[in-house]
Parts: sequence; C-alpha cells; structure tokens
Amino acid sequence: MLEIKGLKVKLEDEDKQILKGLDLTVETGKVHAIMGPNGSGKSTLSYVLSGKDGYEVTDGSAELEGEDLLDMEPEERAAAGLFLAFQYPVEIPGVGNMTFLRTAVNAQRKARGEEELSAGDFLKEVRAKAKDLKIDADMLKRPVNVGFSGGEKKRNEILQMAMLSPKMCILDETDSGLDVDAMKLVADGVNALRSEGRSFLVITHYQRLLDHIKPDVVHIMADGRIVKTGGPELALEVENNGYSDILAEVS
Ligand code: ADP
Ligand code: MG
Ligand code: MG
Repeated sequence: MLEIKGLKVKLEDEDKQILKGLDLTVETGKVHAIMGPNGSGKSTLSYVLSGKDGYEVTDGSAELEGEDLLDMEPEERAAAGLFLAFQYPVEIPGVGNMTFLRTAVNAQRKARGEEELSAGDFLKEVRAKAKDLKIDADMLKRPVNVGFSGGEKKRNEILQMAMLSPKMCILDETDSGLDVDAMKLVADGVNALRSEGRSFLVITHYQRLLDHIKPDVVHIMADGRIVKTGGPELALEVENNGYSDILAEVS
C-alpha cells in the first residue's frame, strides 16, 4: 500500500534536516504503529506524505499503491486514498462542519469518477457515523473544530476519515489529550474501519492506544529514521523501559 525508501526531508527555509533516510513499507490491510521520542520527525513524516508546504524532499521516494505520492498535489493524494488525521486539527471559522464534510466527500467521489451523494444519503450516513463517535448534531452544525474540545476535535478527525473511506489512513497522535473514554471512542472508530483493503499508520507516544488498536507491526523512530521494527511486544517494551534501551541497542 505504502512504500517509502530512503526518504530525506529538510525544512524549506532552513538548513535543518529532519528525515534522514527513512524506510517504511505498510502492506495492504495492515495496521502499523510508529512510536518514538518527541522531535524524532513523526509529524514531519505525516506532513510530507500528505503534501504540506514548508518541507523539501532531498532524496528518496514514497509510493501509494505504486504511484509516486511526492509528485502529487495534496488533493490528488487525498483522491488517491490517503488520509491524515492531524496531531493538531485546524479550526476553520465560517465553514460549517457538515458543509465541509459534504464538500470533501463529493470532491473525492468526483475525483474517483463516482456520482455525488444525494443530500439525503449524505445526511443519513453522516448522522449514523457521528452517532457512533458520540458527536452530537450541534457539533455537526458548528464551524469546523471552532470551540471544540481536544477530544471533540480528534473525534471529528475520525468522522472525516470514516466519511472519506480512504485506503491509507495516517493518525498522528490522535490519542494525545484524550481521556480514556474519548480514546476508546476513537479506537472503536478506527477498528470499525479496519478492512482487508485499508491500511493504517498509527503514530503514538503511548502503548495505551495500542491496547485498543492492535497493531500488526510496530516501528520505533528516532532522529529521522525507523531504527527498529517488531511486533506488538515492541510497544510494551517501550512502555516498560522507555526508549533509552532500544536507542542504545541500535546506535
Ligand atoms: P515528532 O512529531 O516526532 O515530535 P516533528 O516532526 O514534529 O517530530 O519534529 C521533528 C524536528 O523537526 C523537531 O526538532 C522540530 O522542532 C523540527 N521541525 C519540524 N517542523 C518544523 C518547522 N516547520 N520549523 C522548525 N522546526 C521544525
Ligand atoms: Mg511531537
Ligand atoms: Mg508529532
């Protein structure tokens, strides 16, 4: 599904190298987790994959189902099936949440050559999915993320993800700032979307989320690279011993 080879990325305006030759392969239908200390480049990786401005790829490649992601505009990446749930979801004053969702869903359907959803069908779907995530009707009417609590923003990201039914879902610390109940809702939302044709990259600081979203593969990232890959037991090792043992072992 996703194949990254030797990816090197620096800041556009500064001489600062952030990703230093990152290799990562996520198979179709699998859930991979990335853990790693603060500042190791996890968010940068997700930004670069989604096409955010401000970063320059100096070497390497990233392909989604064999297509060059780095060559695509952000909206083309979304149309190709990539979705990023942000660590810090953006507020969009003046744009109603429902309007935003409907525009995004229809843009994606159009890019895939599918017909627009009727207003009725859209409403039915969004209400059902919002209910599962305990997002109330009022939150659907308010401007996107404006005045939402941290937990509400994260649940709203999962609602967007559920509505867009992407192939490759990247969740950047979607668990940070969530209480246990909100985290369970987010995890349930993700688990409901797990399927043979869909892959996930779950970036997290804590093993806690991975108790609910069971990963197939766990990677440890440090200083701009994946330095260790293993099974779910690797996340437990981090939980118990921190990163220092693993980092000492691979350095
Ligand atoms: P993580 O998500 O693993 O905590 P980040 O990708 O956010 O790491 O950051 C990696 C490093 O790059 C950090 O040292 C961070 O300060 C730096 N960095 C990332 N984006 C920017 C930016 N736009 N301007 C300045 N420094 C940045
Ligand atoms: Mg961070
Ligand atoms: Mg981050």
